[in-house]
Amino acid sequence: MKVVLENLTKKFPPRNKKSGSDVIAVNNFNFEFPDGKLIGLLGPSGCGKSTALNLISGLQKPTSGKIYFGDDEVTTLEPEKRGVGLVFQNYALYPHLTVRQNIIFPLQNFKGKDKLTKAEMNERALEIAKLVQIDMLMDRKPSELSGGQQQRVAIARALVKMPRVLLLDEPLSNLDARLRLQTREEIKRIQQKTGITTVFVTHDQEEAMSISDLIVVMRDGVVQQIGKPQEVYDDPKNLFVAKFLGTPPINVFDGCVKGQKLYIGEEFIMEAPGVGDADVYVGIRPEGFVLDEGGVLSCALDRVEVMGRDISVVASHKNAHATVRAIVSSDSNVNITAATVKFSVKPSKIDIYDKETEERIAIGVKNG
Ligand code: ADP
Ligand code: MG
Repeated sequence: MKVVLENLTKKFPPRNKKSGSDVIAVNNFNFEFPDGKLIGLLGPSGCGKSTALNLISGLQKPTSGKIYFGDDEVTTLEPEKRGVGLVFQNYALYPHLTVRQNIIFPLQNFKGKDKLTKAEMNERALEIAKLVQIDMLMDRKPSELSGGQQQRVAIARALVKMPRVLLLDEPLSNLDARLRLQTREEIKRIQQKTGITTVFVTHDQEEAMSISDLIVVMRDGVVQQIGKPQEVYDDPKNLFVAKFLGTPPINVFDGCVKGQKLYIGEEFIMEAPGVGDADVYVGIRPEGFVLDEGGVLSCALDRVEVMGRDISVVASHKNAHATVRAIVSSDSNVNITAATVKFSVKPSKIDIYDKETEERIAIGVKNG
């Protein structure tokens, strides 16, 4: 089931009535969530992710705009009539009920022709429990489960009603690092198996990048960019998106374009055909640096961190906004006693940004 948001806006009145203006938690959100895909809704805390999700679920009503599930408009429809499954950060299981009873719970409200017998409910619960791999835990209470298992029960409970849309709000935030990795793969597997259109909210860019078919990056209620994770990473629309995606983050320098050449300080970095003279921000991904004695960029070497597969070269440059981090392969020869380190830079890993708008400026060569 596709989900369409049309000019969707949610305003909240100011917390302090005397001063301050409305908070626009979601600002004119337009998007068609494609059927059967997993879409990651990504952005820093407070950017409006949960509000957007609550509008889709019906827990909150928009100030303006419309929501469609398929061709049906659901903008004012009550949440229980939308056919959505919801999973939150805190699993919100009933502590006195067993896993089986927790999963069955939503089925007990079915009325009329949808009413299920006890046997049918048990059968449905077992089927879903098998899917999320908790079928051996059916008689336990939530307190007898690990966090990861509890979250699986919550997912099973959301799926047992066969929802048209599955909505997950930071479902992994309460899990430790290893379980978080494992459970996110599980969610991906379950989503692919069921084919339910799924919206997955997270502030963790790596989490969103790793499991989403598409990511939607938000900032202050406004959608910044929508695309496949790799596309958004490679071609960020603006500096905010560029900085939000990737670990270690993109390195940002003050630079300028003069006579269609890009400089950082005095150092000539590369040709910039088609770009007018201007001061710019230069973004270089950590994997864009190559150790090179004859390289264009000279940095003061701070230290070298060995991280197994890769080496992280930590350095300083007077035009850099922060410490420079370069990721090079572990078989590189780094002279750790040297005072300076020189890099050449892969042109495809360099982007430039307008200093006023922070929008990315296309460079002739890169864009064909
Ligand atoms: P996120 O989930 O991305 O962290 P939220 O959607 O929870 O962000 O919040 C977006 C913005 O809306 C924030 O500035 C938040 O303070 C504000 N907000 C959220 N819910 C309410 C509410 N019920 N009343 C007033 N402001 C709210
Ligand atoms: Mg939230």
